[in-house]
Amino acid sequence: MMETFAMRLEPELQRRLIKTVAERVIAHADELVSLDQAIGDGDHGLNMKRGFEAVLADLDKLVQLPLGEALKGVGTALVMKVGGASGPLYGSLFLALGKSLPDEATRATLAEAFSAAVDAVRARGKSDAGQKTMLDVLVPVLAALREGSSELSGLRETAQRAAEATIPMKATRGRASFLGERSIGHMDPGARSSALMLFAIIDVMEGRQ
Ligand code: ADP
Ligand code: MG
Repeated sequence: MMETFAMRLEPELQRRLIKTVAERVIAHADELVSLDQAIGDGDHGLNMKRGFEAVLADLDKLVQLPLGEALKGVGTALVMKVGGASGPLYGSLFLALGKSLPDEATRATLAEAFSAAVDAVRARGKSDAGQKTMLDVLVPVLAALREGSSELSGLRETAQRAAEATIPMKATRGRASFLGERSIGHMDPGARSSALMLFAIIDVMEGRQ
């Protein structure tokens, strides 16, 4: 029975993690809409809000599950509710993270699970860092996690800087790529939403939320 050994967090911590990530994304829906209006079709904030409202509706159920199963539940809700390009991509991220989550979490095993999750996004999006997408935040964060040197505050800074670094990039994947050179000068909405989720997790781990 794998289940017996599956990683479990204190239900209260698991609740706070999922709830804080969901509420943070929802609170920034307007900002994500504005970013997507500049280089896409303006729906990213609403897509993400719809997805994380579905996650919040499932919260009581998700809190009862081992962390891996809960993350798969988040992924499933996102796949079903977010839509757009980002729904399947974030869905793949959370599903793969849930599937790869180690029974015993050390920094190294968590980094490997996150690595599998980032690979799932790459595979689904046929994309990689450097193309002005969410991967431009996810990949540097993975690198920082792997180095193992950075504190949580270092991870926060890595994510923030990585999101800002998408501003001068030219998009070569997703809807923003249709704009070519005109995609330059705006932060990628998916990079921003990835950073927001990470900030929420870090806030919970630091006991700020
Ligand atoms: P849509 O582009 O279908 O309107 P959203 O607006 O919800 O979907 O999401 C847009 C975001 O999705 C982009 O800002 C980008 O970060 C991400 N994205 C789009 N295509 C890809 C891809 N192929 N690989 C990785 N991320 C992508
Ligand atoms: Mg969009």
